[in-house]
Amino acid sequence: MTPLPDDRLERRLPDAKPVYLPGEAVAEAHRCLYCHDAPCVTACPTGIDIPTFIRKIGTGNVKGSARKILSANLLGYSCARVCPVEVLCAGSCVHQHQGEKTIAIGRLQRYAVEAAFTRGDAGALLRRQPANGRKVACVGAGPSSLACAGYLALEGVRVTVLEKRALGGGLNATGVAPYKMHVEGALAEVEFVRSLGVTIRTGVEVGREVSPGDLLRDHDAVFLGAGLGHDTALGLPGEGGPGVMGAVAWIERLKLEPGFALAGVRRAVVIGGGNTAIDAARELARLGVPSVRMLYRRTASEMSGYAHEMEQGRLDGVTLVERAVPKAFERDASGRLAGVALADGRSEPCDLALVAIGQARIGALARGFAGVAVDPTGCVVVDAASGATGNPKVFAGGDAVSGGDLVVTAVQEGKRAARAIAAALGIAVRAGAAMNAGHR
Ligand code: SF4
Repeated sequence: MTPLPDDRLERRLPDAKPVYLPGEAVAEAHRCLYCHDAPCVTACPTGIDIPTFIRKIGTGNVKGSARKILSANLLGYSCARVCPVEVLCAGSCVHQHQGEKTIAIGRLQRYAVEAAFTRGDAGALLRRQPANGRKVACVGAGPSSLACAGYLALEGVRVTVLEKRALGGGLNATGVAPYKMHVEGALAEVEFVRSLGVTIRTGVEVGREVSPGDLLRDHDAVFLGAGLGHDTALGLPGEGGPGVMGAVAWIERLKLEPGFALAGVRRAVVIGGGNTAIDAARELARLGVPSVRMLYRRTASEMSGYAHEMEQGRLDGVTLVERAVPKAFERDASGRLAGVALADGRSEPCDLALVAIGQARIGALARGFAGVAVDPTGCVVVDAASGATGNPKVFAGGDAVSGGDLVVTAVQEGKRAARAIAAALGIAVRAGAAMNAGHR
C-alpha cells in the first residue's frame, strides 16, 4: 500500500476515542455481565456474539475475540469505529436499566480487531476452503462489496472487486469523520479483505473500462455494491461558483487531498439535517472555523441525523438554525460567496457553504445489467432476504439498494448476498462457516 501524504487536513483531527490499552480493555470487559440472550446481540445488524468476544478479551484471548467478531462481521474493524453504538448494541446494554454506564462495545471490538491487524494475522484467523473454480465480480470496494467478496473468498470462490476510484474502502475511506477513523484505518481493512484471497482492482469503472456484459460473461455472478454517486445539488441561484460545495465531496478532499486547506474561512454554513451534515459541521468547528451554522428546514426533533451526534456538534461549537429554507446563494460584485438567503427573508452570511441534502443513486450503472430493476429514486430493486435482482446472475446490496444507510447494514447485506450467491452456485457452505455466523 502506498503511504498517504502527511499534508492532509484530516490529520489535524485526532482520534476522539483512542484504542484501549490492554489493562483498560480487560477492566471494561470485566464490567460485562455476559448476559444470556443478550439484547446487545439482537441490536447488532450483523449479530456479532458480543458477550463471547468480550469474555475472550477478559480472559486474555484477544485473538479468539477477533475471530469471533470477524466471523460475524468481516468489517468489524470499521464498524467498531463508525457504528452509532449509542442506538445499536451499547444502546441496548442492560447496564442502562441500572442507570450505569453501558459497556463500551465499540471500543472493545476495535481493541480486539486492531490487535489482529497490528500483528498482521487477521486473515489467518478465518479458515479458507480450497478453490472451487467459481468466479464472482463485486462492483465497488465499499463495505457491502468487501463483505460479500471476503465471505465468498473464504468459501473458495475467486472474487474480483472492481473500484473506479484509486483507493478501496468506499465511504469508509472517503467519508468517515476523521475523529472516528482516518483513511489509514479503512485501507488497513481493505488489505485484510485482500489477504482473504480477494483481488481488488482500483481505477476500473464498470461501464467505462469494463462493460456489464463483459462481467456477466466472465463471471458466475456479479454483486452490485457501488454505493452512491455525487452530492445532490439544491438547484438554487448562485449555487454554481466558488465557496459552495457538496458536503460529501468536501469531506473527501479533507480526508484525501494533499495540501487541501480552509484558507480564510471564518463563517461556514452546512445545509441539511442528516448525519453527513452534522459530520461536516463538526469537522469545520473542530478545524477552528469560528462560526459554523447548520441550516435545517424543519426543527431539531425532525432531523434524520442522530440526536447524540448533534449534541456533540453543539459541544464542538456548531449552531443549529431551525426552519431555515435556503432560497439563493448571495455573491458580492466579484462573485465571491457572501451568504445564503432564506425563504423567510433572513440571511446567513458565510464564506463557505456545504450542501448535505443527499447523494445521487447509481441507477444508470444498474440498468446496464439486463433484467435489473431500479425504483423511481434510482435505487436497485432486490429481494430483501437475498439481495437477488431480476437478473439471476446479479445481486446487490448496501447504499445502492438502501439509498444510504449504516456501514453495518451494508455489511450485513453483503453477507446475505454472499450466502445467496453461494447457494445459487451450488457451493456447499460448511456448517459453522463465517458467512453463517450471526442471527440474521
Ligand atoms: Fe454485556 Fe451489556 Fe451485552 Fe449484557 S447487554 S452482554 S452487559 S454488553
